[in-house]
Amino acid sequence: MSSYSNILVAVDLSPTAGSVCEKAASLAKLHGALLTVLYVAEYVPPLDIAYEPVTPADWMVDEGALVRRATESLNALTDALGISDATRLVELGIPKQTILHTAQERGCDLIIVGSHGRHGIGRLLGSTANSILHNAACDVLAIRIQDRHVDPPA
Ligand code: AMP
Repeated sequence: MSSYSNILVAVDLSPTAGSVCEKAASLAKLHGALLTVLYVAEYVPPLDIAYEPVTPADWMVDEGALVRRATESLNALTDALGISDATRLVELGIPKQTILHTAQERGCDLIIVGSHGRHGIGRLLGSTANSILHNAACDVLAIRIQDRHVDPPA
């Protein structure tokens, strides 16, 4: 197998992010590859329970504060794993699009994601992981997230 030289790991900062990031770091070390750790901060307008029209002014978000908080969390995660030398990125956007765009822009040859994350286990692969797998121009590795609550087979 040829080596990977430029790996992007996408982490959602959920409780599963540490194990995904840790495996990515091991793989990067094994291959002597550059490692970029990416978190995409997304925000959605709140649902108005009274079904009143929600105007943009109602859901203005302090993007600077959002990015600052996310950067602190991402730094804490990577520091705890001993990979502070990895490139750490926080971007604002839609996760699946931003992950693909960042991988392309940085010339990554492997994208690593968790099999699912915040969006749950409705499918075998979460929606972000599924989209990356089908649309990436490079290899994709999905780290299997072990589920705590698995229904027994029927
Ligand atoms: P999901 O499809 O949301 O269940 O998440 C599957 C995987 O996609 C996660 O384990 C992460 O690797 C990646 N992912 C999801 N959301 C984000 C995000 N906001 N930023 C970076 N990676 C993400």
